[in-house]
Amino acid sequence: MNYSESKEKSAEILRAVIGLMAPHDASFNPVTFAVWYEHVAGINPGLSDALNDAVTRHGRLGNDAVRKLFDAHIAPPEHQVMNRVAENFHKAMAGMVDSATRTGNDAGRFGEQLSRLALALESPDTGDLSPHIDEARENASEMRQSAQALERQVAQSRTEIAALQVELGRVRQEALLCPLTRVLNRRGFDLSLQAMLDGARGVDDSHCLVMLDIDHFKRVNDTHGHVMGDRVIQAMGEVMRACVAGQSGTSLARYGGEEFAVLLPDTPIHVAKDVAENIRQRVKALKVRHRKTQEVVLTFTVSAGVATISHGDRPDTLVARADSALYQSKQNGRDRVTCA
Ligand code: GH3
Ligand code: MG
Ligand code: MG
Repeated sequence: MNYSESKEKSAEILRAVIGLMAPHDASFNPVTFAVWYEHVAGINPGLSDALNDAVTRHGRLGNDAVRKLFDAHIAPPEHQVMNRVAENFHKAMAGMVDSATRTGNDAGRFGEQLSRLALALESPDTGDLSPHIDEARENASEMRQSAQALERQVAQSRTEIAALQVELGRVRQEALLCPLTRVLNRRGFDLSLQAMLDGARGVDDSHCLVMLDIDHFKRVNDTHGHVMGDRVIQAMGEVMRACVAGQSGTSLARYGGEEFAVLLPDTPIHVAKDVAENIRQRVKALKVRHRKTQEVVLTFTVSAGVATISHGDRPDTLVARADSALYQSKQNGRDRVTCA
């Protein structure tokens, strides 16, 4: 978002923002400020609608609610960031091409001048060579400067391109993550699952998939509200992370809504079952507390299904088996792990 308000106008907005931010629970950080600023300035109607809606539904807004508004309505969409990176790549390359062309033209002129000097030297009537030599000396100096300028331009472009590559890598990584839990999103899951299946060559390979689904999650939302529902989803991500900490090659993902997945390459099914069981138990023991009073607000459980890879499996066939094991866990009373 480009802000075009004058200093006077922005001061007026600032005063209004302070008044509006104060009654809410969110801290006065730049994210909160940006949300209220764009709302008061009237420059982001989608944000204003969502903000009014959130205030109507929840009353006071905390950091999580404000962050969600910021991510959804202010943070630059991924494709905009990608376009900016691509544009900067283009600029860096264009700068280098310009310099190289200039140096090339200078070299061409210098070459022509040297040819004239060579012809003059070969001629039987050499006459006075000093104008040619002076011209060559001058051109050589220009040529040196031009080459040095090109060298500087190349060095600068190299630094810019290296920084852009880092940014591109970060954007690519970010695009595969769920912003709420920081585990892989569905796209990241699909890529990791495909990579796991591609890596399964031998018949002895034992790659496993665990699918998990929070039990009666709709009740959490209905009873405690969506903000608390989101906290439960976040907590689920943290438990999963703690349970696979130190296990290299394992990927965690949010498959969708309140469904999660763990990909365990080169893992026997009994170990995958232990991982699922560990997650189930830790989730059951978890107490979600009120942020201020620390009073226990809720506990929840999770059901899981575990499947191991079979010969000829595709992503959908493996997911379907883990899913039907998960369905059995639900059918048999939830809060349990079933192996396909
Ligand atoms: P079950 O034990 O059979 O899985 O029941 P459930 O209530 O967990 O399952 P159901 O599919 O009926 O409800 C899932 C709910 O999850 C519905 C949807 O509104 C909610 N949900 C999905 N994504 C999110 C999210 O990102 N945040 C919040 N707060 N709720 C979400
Ligand atoms: Mg579900
Ligand atoms: Mg559920």
